[in-house]
Amino acid sequence: MSADNESATGKDSGPAGKLATLFSEAFDGENGSVTPPIVQSSLFTFDSYEAFEDRMAGRTSKAIYTRVQNPTVAAFESTMARAEGAEAAVGFASGMGGIAATMLALVKPGDRIACVNHIYPDAYRLFERILRPFGIATTYHPTEEFESNPELLDGVAIAYLESPNSLMFETLNLATVARHAKRHDAITVIDNSWATPVFQRPLEHGIDVSLHSASKYISGHSDTVAGVVVSNKQIIHRIRDLTLPLLGAKLAPFEAFLLTRGLRTLVPRMQRHEQSTNILIARLESLATVERVNTATVNPDSGISGRSGLFSVQFAPSVDIRTFCNALTLFQLGVSWGGFESLALPARVALAQAEAENSMLRFGVPKNLVRFSVGLEGVDDLWGDLNTAISKATK
Ligand SMILES: *Cc1c(COP(=O)(O)O)cnc(C)c1O
Repeated sequence: MSADNESATGKDSGPAGKLATLFSEAFDGENGSVTPPIVQSSLFTFDSYEAFEDRMAGRTSKAIYTRVQNPTVAAFESTMARAEGAEAAVGFASGMGGIAATMLALVKPGDRIACVNHIYPDAYRLFERILRPFGIATTYHPTEEFESNPELLDGVAIAYLESPNSLMFETLNLATVARHAKRHDAITVIDNSWATPVFQRPLEHGIDVSLHSASKYISGHSDTVAGVVVSNKQIIHRIRDLTLPLLGAKLAPFEAFLLTRGLRTLVPRMQRHEQSTNILIARLESLATVERVNTATVNPDSGISGRSGLFSVQFAPSVDIRTFCNALTLFQLGVSWGGFESLALPARVALAQAEAENSMLRFGVPKNLVRFSVGLEGVDDLWGDLNTAISKATK
């Protein structure tokens, strides 16, 4: 292929283009429908005693009951598995449902988990408030130790990773961590919500389990809470056999339909989030009122091939963060991220949460930090909003 052809197709000539094609595949349904039907049924019946018995004995595989299996959910799961180059995937009612089901399927009392600092606050609460009293201890380490210390995972059952994490955006070289983990027989689990399969496919770097809060970019429209876990057949089978049915955090057919719908536009959305975010970060970094921008390290060889729309800014002392937040008009104040709308989350507000176990208190978050989620609005409008608010808030 000539250089001209390459530049004409740009990013689409690579993995992003392949994913865009995968996500555009029509569902080849009855009546020629291009989208999967929402199979809103709790149970599925059988034509005969024999067919019923064959299914119960595991000789056939059709859905029996929607807590465990549903055709609309299966369509989403199969697309997600293919998107991350995995053998299998399982959907959940929330990202936390997926995280809890994964961890409880893979640990037993006496096991130890090694986890990165600045982990998602509710995953931290799961480890501290539920797993620890059950005899499963978690130790927390700076992100870079997972690369620099090959012995860190000695005696560890699970390495629980976020790369990047969603506050400070420290990034891991996935192949290095996966290599250390394999030497110690530790299972590697990564929260891949930030990057999505468009910008990071962890299994291709040797990670065992990749999980998502699908409430974020995969849904993309701030109208769904859901989760998905992708991995090899053995691990997904263990989750399906044990924690999906017995904890019961199943993905509903309607939510699965919305997620399949979200995937249709995931690639162009992520490309636009990236484009706008790169522009905003470059402009913010040029301001004297900005001390520092925290964002992931983009390096396709180590994991991340592009930047999504979530990053954080540490403002200079001259900026009054309360005034800044109240002056924003396009960026709305709120938790979560990954939707069409731009959001701001000041660290001081998040720190005000009066919880017994608060990862933000434990790992420390700079008080001058504001996290931004860049949505799909016009980038000049977003810049105008930030710039005006910063001017109004600067003494
Ligand atoms: C939101 C989020 C979760 C939890 O997902 P829910 O869908 O809200 O349960 C997990 N990890 C990260 C990084 C998140 O941002």
